[in-house]
Amino acid sequence: MFGILTAVLKGRSYKWYKVRKKHIEKQPCCQACGSCEKPEVHHILPFHLYPELELDPDNLITLCDKYCHFVFGHLMNWKSYNVDIIEDAKKYREKKMTRPEVIKFN
Ligand SMILES: [Zn+2]
Ligand SMILES: [Zn+2]
Repeated sequence: MFGILTAVLKGRSYKWYKVRKKHIEKQPCCQACGSCEKPEVHHILPFHLYPELELDPDNLITLCDKYCHFVFGHLMNWKSYNVDIIEDAKKYREKKMTRPEVIKFN
């Protein structure tokens, strides 16, 4: 219940709260780094520019709140957004999965 209250207080609709919850159930982990801690739902096209897409499930992607939302979703500026987020998240995830083992020098 606290979550709903917070969403309402922040001026977001109750509908958004439900859409967000449904999206996290479907896509629980960060699409860039694969972490399932602190998932955040990012709008691919920002809802303040495209209000009609705020609740569109196709406009959402899960990015973690730790780095990926800020770095990949917003290119380190909350006032901007990454037009290639789907592609970039996929590319980074693949890179991370196939990265070389850490080399030990001894
Ligand atoms: Zn992440
Ligand atoms: Zn975002």
